[in-house]
Formats: sequence, C-alpha cells, structure tokens
Amino acid sequence: MSVSSETIAAIRDYVPEVRDLTIGGRPVTPAGERWDVYNPATEEVIGTVGGASPEQVDEAVRAARAAFGPWSVTPGEQRCAAILSLADRMEERFEKLLASIVNEVGTPVSLAEFLQVRMGIGHLRWQAEAAKKDRTVHLGPYDVPVPTMSDVDHFPVGVVAAITGYNYPLNLAIFKFGAALAAGCTVVLLPSPRTPLTTLLLGELVRESDLPDGVLNIIVGGADVGQCLSSHPGVDKVSFTGSDAVGAKIMAQAAANLNGVTLELGGKSANIVLPGCDVESFAVDMHLRWSRNAGQGCAALARLLVHEGLYDRFLKSGADAFGQMKVGDPWDPATNIGPLIRPDHRDRVNGFVTEALEQGGRALLRVDTPLPERGWYVNPVLLGDLPHSARAVQQEIFGPVAVVLPFEDTDEAVRLANDTAYGLAANVWAPDLQEGRRVAERLRAGTVWINGGGAMRPDAPFGGAGRSGIGREIGEWGIMEFLEPRHIQWAL
Ligand code: NAD
Repeated sequence: MSVSSETIAAIRDYVPEVRDLTIGGRPVTPAGERWDVYNPATEEVIGTVGGASPEQVDEAVRAARAAFGPWSVTPGEQRCAAILSLADRMEERFEKLLASIVNEVGTPVSLAEFLQVRMGIGHLRWQAEAAKKDRTVHLGPYDVPVPTMSDVDHFPVGVVAAITGYNYPLNLAIFKFGAALAAGCTVVLLPSPRTPLTTLLLGELVRESDLPDGVLNIIVGGADVGQCLSSHPGVDKVSFTGSDAVGAKIMAQAAANLNGVTLELGGKSANIVLPGCDVESFAVDMHLRWSRNAGQGCAALARLLVHEGLYDRFLKSGADAFGQMKVGDPWDPATNIGPLIRPDHRDRVNGFVTEALEQGGRALLRVDTPLPERGWYVNPVLLGDLPHSARAVQQEIFGPVAVVLPFEDTDEAVRLANDTAYGLAANVWAPDLQEGRRVAERLRAGTVWINGGGAMRPDAPFGGAGRSGIGREIGEWGIMEFLEPRHIQWAL
C-alpha cells in the first residue's frame, strides 16, 4: 500500500494539537519544563510542549500502580479486547499518526507508512492476541525427597517504565507497551523529547479506547524526567530503547530499586558479501536499506564486508544504487533519504566523514546532488580504505554513512563481523541458502538476515548482545520480559 498524492496533499501540514499528558485515563496539563519541537525538514518549530513535573511522574506511577491490581487479574480475552480497541482507534487516526511522524522525525512518507504505522498496528494486534495465551508448563512428577508434582505459571512484573528513542517513535513504543499490557503489566510511557507529538496523540487515543484508566499512562520530558521515572521506587521494571551510553545510566538508575531492565541499544551491524554472490542483483536493495531513515536505525547494516574478489564489481553496482538515492523532502514519495533529526546530530555525522577522510580514508561513493536549502540533510557516503580500528568503522554513526572493508576468506569475514562491541543484527549475502546459514550460525547478532528480507515479524525476537543491549522485544520473547515465572509444587 502506498500513500496517494491526494492523501499527501491533505495531511502534509498536519501536526497534532494534543499537549496534555495522559495520567489515570485523564488529560493532565503538563507542569514541568517547556521546549520547542522542530520539523527537521523545514527547521521550523511545529509545537511547544510541556514536560511532566516530578509530582506528575509520581502521579503517573501511582495511577499505573492503582490500575495494576485489577488489570493483572483481568482475563486474557478481556485484555485482548481492550488492547484491540486501541489498535482500532489507531487505525481510525492512521493518517494523523503518519503525518505526525513524517513532520517530527523527517522519515520519508512511504517508509513511515509501512514501518511505523502499518507495522506498529499489526504488532499491537498480534500482542493483543498473545494476551490470551496460557503459558503454564506442566513439569510432571518428581520423587526426591518425597513424591511431588510441579507446574510453572507466570505473573506480571508490575508497573513498567517504558522509555524510547526518537527515530521510530510509534513502533518502538508499541513493542514495549503492547507486550507489557498483554502480559498484565501497566505502563508509564516516556517518548524522546525530540519527537513527543506522535506519542501525545497516542495518549488521546488511549483515553478514547477501552483500556481501563491508568493501564497506559503517557508523560513527556527530557533526561531529568527519564531519570526520575527509571529510578522511581513505584516502578518494577524499566524497558528502554536508545543509545548504549544512556542505557548504562538507565541500568544504574534501575539498580537503585534492584529492578530488572530490558535494553534495546545501538549497533554496528555487518553486511557480508560472500564469494560467488551476484552482487549486481542486490546492490540497490542493500544500499537503500542501510541508508533507510537517513541511517537513523539501530539495525542499519552500515558495515559492508565484501569479498576482495568482488570488490570492484561491488563498487560499480553500488554506483548505480547511489544514483537511485533521492535526498530531500520526506513528503515526496520519490524521496528515500530525509533529514537528520537535529543540526548537532548532522554535524556529528559529518564529523565522522571529515575525520575518516583526514585519516586517509576515501569517499568511494557519494551522492553529490545539492542539498535542499533548509533542513538538516546529509548526502549519503560510502567510506573505504579505512583500518578496522577507525572510529567510523567501530562506532554507531546513525546517519547515511557506511564503511566498506574487503576480506580474504569467510573466516576473516566472520572475525571482522564479530569484532565489534555490538551484536544487534547482520545480513549475509550468499550464493546459496546453505552457505548463508553456515555463516549466520557463526555470528554474534540477535537477528541475521540472509539474502535480504529485513521484515520485523511480530512473532520473532529482536534485540542484541554486548553493547546492543539486554533482553529481547517482540514476539513471545518480548512478552516474557514482563512476566515472572512462578513454580507451584504440590505433594502427592
Ligand atoms: P538516547 O539514548 O539519546 O535517548 C533515548 C531516551 O532516553 C530519550 O527519551 C531521552 O530523553 C532519555 N534519557 C536520556 N538520558 C536519560 C537518563 N539519564 N535517564 C532516563 N532517560 C534518559 O537515544 P536517541 O538518540 O533518542 O535514539 C538513538 C539511539 O537509540 C541509537 O543508539 C539507536 O541505535 C538506538 N535504538 C535502538 C533500537 C533497538 O531496538 N535496539 C531501536 C531504535 C533506536
């Protein structure tokens, strides 16, 4: 499904007007610090929002606590129906959610349509159905020291603090609150202060839905509000998506209450091109994927490891792919690279390129069309001739910049792919599936795609090893993050 030009014309100027927090099912006027939200494509202020005061963080946690008792024992069928009612409200406001994302993140409209709104609602519906699942495990008899039988069932963790990053505001939130609500937990959701408008709109839909008051609370605020929420004694679990630096702080803050964390952090994912591959057939797909959302994706496969025998063909076919990259207005359906979120982030991304070039690296491929006059854009670049230790090779850039490194044989490819502090995702381009599987099974990565794909299925886990985080989101794995196992044993 693509977005028609009539729809684009009708919604492109829409910005949500909702500024109230959602606490205990009621709209609440924010009493904390105020700040401006920008459209990164126009550099214009599109709204001023107020954050939660410390008292309002308290109020939100208390509302979630009050709702937890009844919600945790609500039968799965009813929890499912209530969650589905929110999915229905989102479906009704599909176009408004879409416009809000495009205008506050700068994500190209066709990408936001499928990856944010359509996929997000699809995942929420899957999570709703998962609320009905009986997860009890019957262990059977055990005779030492006396004959007994055992079951293992599960109970919800309690009140969840869900804190998200800016790059995909809707689906990152759904991965957390959908799973937590399905598990019987209640939630206080805090989006990034750079992209709060879509989540504030979501709050209005929560209030219109059949979710009981206080089950899903929505507040906004900056790092201080995040700190207050993640260290709050009324919270039982913190689920965070963002950078590894902030993830480490969150873990320390949650430790004050000995609370568990789920951390979905950054990555430096490898894209391995094995010998024998038909590079021309996937060049466009490969380059458009790592540069998707202007490279602002945790699983951006921006470390390209290419067999040395294919290196020249790889660059030649890459030039065709770069020719198809269109940087510019995110509302233009032909655009595949929008702006970066803020000027300081654009400068940081450009800084990686400048430093790499100063260190003897080369821009092997580059989009050189003039950038729009306004907007925090960066033209995509493929850097090469860099040592594996270079900062651009090791660190998450989070912009439309990739690095390419040749390798001699498959062992070296696997060693280079795993030689990173992260372990989020990887892609293997292989001459056949068997060879792809053999390499995939040697990679330290939470997700491995073979010969493309890239779909985030609602029933498969997502997350990573090392500095990419702790735990998993999505699917049954995502729900288990919000459940505690309970061993029930009885004497025979
Ligand atoms: P960030 O870490 O700067 O901020 C994320 C959130 O943390 C924001 O809401 C921010 O207000 C809040 N925060 C900041 N300091 C805090 C503190 N001390 N206590 C509590 N909260 C605090 O991340 P970002 O720039 O918004 O997002 C980009 C990062 O997110 C990238 O590193 C990207 O890889 C990662 N990410 C990971 C996944 C994944 O699933 N693994 C998905 C998307 C993004």
